[in-house]
Amino acid sequence: MSSHRPFSLRFKVAATMAVAVALPLSLTACGGGGGGSDEGKIVIGTKFDQPGLGMKNPDGTYSGFDVDVATYVAKELGYEPDKIEFKESPSSQRETLIQNGQVDYVVATYSITDARKEKVSFAGPYLVTGQSLLVKADNTDITGKDSLANNKKLCSVSGSTPAQKIKDEFPSVQLQQYDTYSACIEALKNGAIDAVTTDEVILAGYAAQSPGAFKIVGEPFSEENYGIGLKKDDTELQTKINDALTKMEADGAWKAAFEKNLGPAGIPTPAPPAIAKN
Ligand code: GLU
Repeated sequence: MSSHRPFSLRFKVAATMAVAVALPLSLTACGGGGGGSDEGKIVIGTKFDQPGLGMKNPDGTYSGFDVDVATYVAKELGYEPDKIEFKESPSSQRETLIQNGQVDYVVATYSITDARKEKVSFAGPYLVTGQSLLVKADNTDITGKDSLANNKKLCSVSGSTPAQKIKDEFPSVQLQQYDTYSACIEALKNGAIDAVTTDEVILAGYAAQSPGAFKIVGEPFSEENYGIGLKKDDTELQTKINDALTKMEADGAWKAAFEKNLGPAGIPTPAPPAIAKN
């Protein structure tokens, strides 16, 4: 992968980091053909606090559908799981982390949008979901997006598509923007806000984590296509990741990962989306 810019750029940016020392080897390993040494690490951005999708567990392991997709793709690129370094990538920082070369790619409930495509490129999509609402289990006055008009306090995350949609289409809602959805969930638990809004798969993960505490209300009111974010116009990496996703969908690993991670949250396994050029 000689023209694989994320590595060389990260090498420049993070030249003082110990990991940088190993990076030239990763170029050799990734260059293909030679096999050779695989000392280099790959740095992948994901969420650390989204159960079922991207979680850093108390024992230091990582789990979730995004983690499994990221791990499968890394393997196809020549990186075994022990060569992966996961870097927390909050919604508002994803483009910057990619642009600065601090991550090689991002698998973090990251919707493909035209605005983001100005700054980064995407492989995928590898999952389709939609914006929804999570309320306390005993809430009766929020039943869907149409109940939001009456000065409801809603929590979402800075830099996310759901927060943007609320600002654009529900101007009377009192939107509180936090850095993470887990912070929104805490605010919902302690009554500081009335509802959390983001993608249905994310909300389902939190609902499953605290059985009986929350419920999802109404129908999804957007379409979110999750992509793997990478450096803008790195078509070589984009093609390699698309090939890996296509393989993951075809060989049953995609379905198995969905069932393992999102099945417990009660989400029926959909057909995997067609991988397109983004
Ligand atoms: N998929 C949406 C987005 O990319 C919401 C989830 C998130 O913030 O990670 O903004």
